[in-house]
Amino acid sequence: MRVAFIAAECEPWAKTGGLGDVVDALARALGRIPDGPAGLVDVFLPRYRSVPIPPQAKEAGEIDVPDPASAEGSAAVRVLEAETHGYRLRLIDHPAAFDRPEIYGYDDDVWRFGLFSRAALEVLRRDAVPPDVLHIHDWHSCASAVFRDTFYASDPGLGRAALLLTIHNLAYQGWTPREAFPQLGLPPNDRSVAPDPAGLDLLWAGIVRSELVNTVSPGFAAEALTRRGGFGLDPALRWKGDRFFGILNGLDTEVWNPATDADIPATYDRADRSGKAICRSNVLSELGLDPDDPGPVLGVIGRLDHQKGFDILAEAADRVILGGARLIVLGSGDPTIASQLRGVARGWPDLVAFVEKFDRALARRIYAGSDVFVMPSRFEPCGQGQMIAMRYGTPPIVHRTGGLRDTVVDETSNVGHGTGFVFDRPTPESLVDAVTRATAMFPGGDGATSPEWEGLQDRAMAVDFDWERSSAPAYMAAYRRAVEIRRAGLEAGPRARPRAPLPRPG
Ligand code: ADP
Repeated sequence: MRVAFIAAECEPWAKTGGLGDVVDALARALGRIPDGPAGLVDVFLPRYRSVPIPPQAKEAGEIDVPDPASAEGSAAVRVLEAETHGYRLRLIDHPAAFDRPEIYGYDDDVWRFGLFSRAALEVLRRDAVPPDVLHIHDWHSCASAVFRDTFYASDPGLGRAALLLTIHNLAYQGWTPREAFPQLGLPPNDRSVAPDPAGLDLLWAGIVRSELVNTVSPGFAAEALTRRGGFGLDPALRWKGDRFFGILNGLDTEVWNPATDADIPATYDRADRSGKAICRSNVLSELGLDPDDPGPVLGVIGRLDHQKGFDILAEAADRVILGGARLIVLGSGDPTIASQLRGVARGWPDLVAFVEKFDRALARRIYAGSDVFVMPSRFEPCGQGQMIAMRYGTPPIVHRTGGLRDTVVDETSNVGHGTGFVFDRPTPESLVDAVTRATAMFPGGDGATSPEWEGLQDRAMAVDFDWERSSAPAYMAAYRRAVEIRRAGLEAGPRARPRAPLPRPG
């Protein structure tokens, strides 16, 4: 079983959110489990400007990749390879596409990620041993599914490869209007690839063409099948039947470990949490808040995006503060949400700290130094933040949605068995209610303890999200099943193929 990932992010080289964490952690875990893939997993990643070349990277030569944007019809793309972190990182270096300040957000993203996907397939086509599984992630690599079926169907290697698409985010779909089809090397009037007269939704194409599709928690998979939670793709997902399912993400318990974390001022573990008080006092001083105030400190980390519900938090902030809690917020993104949060911080300069940047080390100090972690996401495919917080002994307050509801047990309704606090509606009122419940139970951050709170922290820290024990074996099983489906379909011949692709849902 040879497996190749094609992904737009991979920690520590390129990350804007959970996608980067998951790609790295899963590739690594697959390399370690018994019955894992043969040889190293390949991880294809664009060489963005911000990607540092690993010192052990080797030049793997230049290949000619069909490139609709170039006058010659093809582009010379440099490939760099490094065996590192337990997998083989294969960087696609094409400065015209990737030597730019940001990872995403350009008008020609369809071309950029189309070229990336095509280059990955061209590299794999030249390998001595072809991949059995192409594991693609989010819309950025979904052009690979179109290309496999359009350009490589009769290739002895790639034509046999099975596709597994993992949806980390259903909201971004790579919409490509017909006039942009040439960016993918497809004729604009091609109806076989895109039955929708308006264009092609790349994520939809990945869904209908992949042998199997999963999302990153069972809870989110269930929501994605509904009109409300499906972002317009629920008909395509329902059409997949049992070929669409959820696999809960794990957490990299080596990367996220308060007992070994070099970025926090004092390490601690489940048996002895005394270091956590030092982390608390340290991060409060660092951010200009009083380290001796015993009230609960709520930590919040994430992309400032409508999805993450930081605006709900901003609206709730006055009530949260008046209830005795303080807030530390780390995040960057949407300027409107950022200015809302700046307003909150200005209103309560001694009680609220808002740090508007992406800072990995500060994030760790906040996970360790906060008393409670807040994640008010409107929707959440899985979420890493709440899992990291639990591992750091910081019970999370989460909205009952997607992966958040799969990973956090509400203490109020399961007294003595909870791992955090869960609220039902994405509203300031519902959030304030959960903060009030947490605050009422919190004994004080000045060294005071209570058996109830200690128990809550202990249960949160005890939850085992390790990739190698559950998620990675579940992906291996999915790879085997995808290969079986692909091989059976090819043997049965084109006329026996199960169902024709759906038109794009309205
Ligand atoms: P998403 O993938 O939707 O952004 P997740 O909760 O799955 O959300 O993953 C977010 C990851 O990114 C976590 O590891 C979190 O700590 C990290 N992160 C998000 N924003 C920041 C930031 N401003 N600084 C540092 N780390 C951040």
